[in-house]
Amino acid sequence: MERLIVEIPPESIVLKRAFCPRGHSLMADSVLLGDMPTVHLLAKQGTTLEHIYLDARYGNYDVLGGGQFAVGSLVTLHCPECDVSLELEGEECLHCSAPMFSFQLPHKGLAQACSRVGCHFHRLRLQDPGARLAALFSGDE
Ligand SMILES: [Zn+2]
Ligand SMILES: [Zn+2]
Repeated sequence: MERLIVEIPPESIVLKRAFCPRGHSLMADSVLLGDMPTVHLLAKQGTTLEHIYLDARYGNYDVLGGGQFAVGSLVTLHCPECDVSLELEGEECLHCSAPMFSFQLPHKGLAQACSRVGCHFHRLRLQDPGARLAALFSGDE
């Protein structure tokens, strides 16, 4: 498959919808960062469990919660609704080799990020060539 690299200014894309592999919405409409709804995930490390909320502005690393996890340690991320693991099989972080996790976006897009606390490696993978980039994140079908 051809690869298209698109450079965008930080925060110019806002994720309006995100889903677990079973189709549950991950958007937390009542937990805001920068006046925008956040992406709600369940983070686990051993027996420690914490709900975290990611900034939906792509390229912004603000996160609410997760204070129990040491910087540099690994967490697993799960859907808060059904607990399914969001680990991305067969992919590892290009910066630190940790496992990656992902969640689904409209039009078969995937947001991928490193599962190491404090590592900011992430990328968007857009698989529908017919979808316009702007339309992916507008909230419209
Ligand atoms: Zn789910
Ligand atoms: Zn990493």
